[in-house]
Amino acid sequence: MLRFQSCCRASVLHHFVSHYSVTKVDKPLEKVHHTKLFINNGWHNAVNGKTFPTVDPSTGKTIVQVAEADKDDVDLAVYAAKQAFKLGSPWRSMDASQRGQLLNRLAELIERDREYLASLETLDNGKPFSMSYNMDVGETIKIYRYFAGFADKCHGKTIPIDGNYFCYTRHEPVGVCGQIIPWNFPLVMQSWKLAPALATGNTVVMKVAEQTPLSGLYIASLIKEAGFPPGVVNILTGYGPTAGAAIARHMDVDKVAFTGSTKVGRLIQQAAGESNLKRVTLELGGKSPCIVLEDADLDQAVKQCHEALFFNMGQCCAAGSRTYVHESIYNEFLERSIERAKARRVGDPFELDTEHGPQIDKRQFDKIFDYIESGKKEGAKLVCGGVRHGDEGFFIKPTVFAEVQDNMRIAREEIFGPVQQIFKFKKIEEVINRANNSKYGLAAGVFTKDLDKAMHLTQVLQAGTVWVNTYNALGCQTPFGGYKESGNGRELGEDGLRAYTEVKCVTIKIPQKNS
Ligand code: NAP
Ligand code: MG
Repeated sequence: MLRFQSCCRASVLHHFVSHYSVTKVDKPLEKVHHTKLFINNGWHNAVNGKTFPTVDPSTGKTIVQVAEADKDDVDLAVYAAKQAFKLGSPWRSMDASQRGQLLNRLAELIERDREYLASLETLDNGKPFSMSYNMDVGETIKIYRYFAGFADKCHGKTIPIDGNYFCYTRHEPVGVCGQIIPWNFPLVMQSWKLAPALATGNTVVMKVAEQTPLSGLYIASLIKEAGFPPGVVNILTGYGPTAGAAIARHMDVDKVAFTGSTKVGRLIQQAAGESNLKRVTLELGGKSPCIVLEDADLDQAVKQCHEALFFNMGQCCAAGSRTYVHESIYNEFLERSIERAKARRVGDPFELDTEHGPQIDKRQFDKIFDYIESGKKEGAKLVCGGVRHGDEGFFIKPTVFAEVQDNMRIAREEIFGPVQQIFKFKKIEEVINRANNSKYGLAAGVFTKDLDKAMHLTQVLQAGTVWVNTYNALGCQTPFGGYKESGNGRELGEDGLRAYTEVKCVTIKIPQKNS
């Protein structure tokens, strides 16, 4: 077994593995450096002195205690962010290109500490190390770099209005941005929110999820090392109903960006309405359909639909959690899906060939079993899994339900776990109606070789993202967000910048010679 610190900086995990022939990496238990609140570039205990434990989901044991922010700490962080946003402050006086350089420097520092950050993410969240290293940290680096490039490219327009005027628009930062993120992709969610906010010149007060505070705090230390001025980024650890709610209600927070459940999304929007009408963007839940037509490449469709659901232990807002398969290929598809689910390697997330780790916590673990029980009771056929894996931590064996009907709870509600629902359909128009018959509209997948059918489906499906013959293919360049109760606004891509600027229209009278 190899110790992390002695590894070379392999650019991708397989170099790392083949060069050192490691099969497992160490848990960085003794190397958790930051557990306090990051405010104004300093580390602080909570005003009330409270702390709470963060837990290793693969054992259920406490890793470390972290500071528990409450309203008073939010007030301090918002004050720091407001000062940092004042005209004439170092941040507001900085050239836009310099903001881009700071973001690029942050990306370099993350790359420098890639192995450590991946191990911290795996320790706190439970996702397999190979995924943390390749996907989570890899994407995080790309996202900071992508938005770094936009820092000096947020152009306004000149507008030819009627009359003798010079009219133009400026894209100005909104101000103090409150950001509340979930636990399923801690580093990635942090970058989706921080990078566009900073590229456009805002300041930030972020609350990271109570289950996964550690990687976000380490990023705070890199933000300081990169040279961001004090108060520009403030990172708080704490609970949603206290610290999160205080951000959503704060009169000096100009915008709030939230990712999490639809239930809490409603509370955030309500708090904004009842306080200062701060701008709100919401990335919420989903119950996304994958539609497999009879002419689909069956191997590919089975593989993609499996990954669509089981990726990240099913803890994914875009999870393809309603798999609709044409009746003519249903049995074959089901058999192959069961084979795949059974073959998925579940186990210690620090083993390099592990594909599937534990669920995030006991609450989610219990909630998923409640759904599995409801599926059985309502008459769906459990064809694989449905039980715990091992006897410690929060592992659940990949689970597949067949003969699922549209009115069952497992067909309508977001399970957020490794439970695949497979449905049968006869006709295209029928499956379109069934797919759209959901309060959610985050994503959809279509599997077919028929271009006309693919084009038709991409137009009629009510979802922020539609994938054809693939799933989860998204990156920093692609706008992501939901229709209906899956959210408000878009993140990533150029569209992701919109939520972080106010458009100011300036109109100047041009003096006439004889006036
Ligand atoms: P959640 O309660 O919506 O949590 C998301 C974030 O919001 C966390 O930082 C949370 O703080 C915070 N929060 C909670 N209550 C709040 C409030 N009243 N005001 C402001 N912020 C608040 O989600 P969860 O309980 O972790 O998971 C429950 C379900 O949400 C999951 O089963 C899944 O269906 C869905 N979910 C969706 C996503 C997604 O990516 N769209 C991500 C996670 C969960 P705490 O740290 O204290 O919880
Ligand atoms: Mg944890």
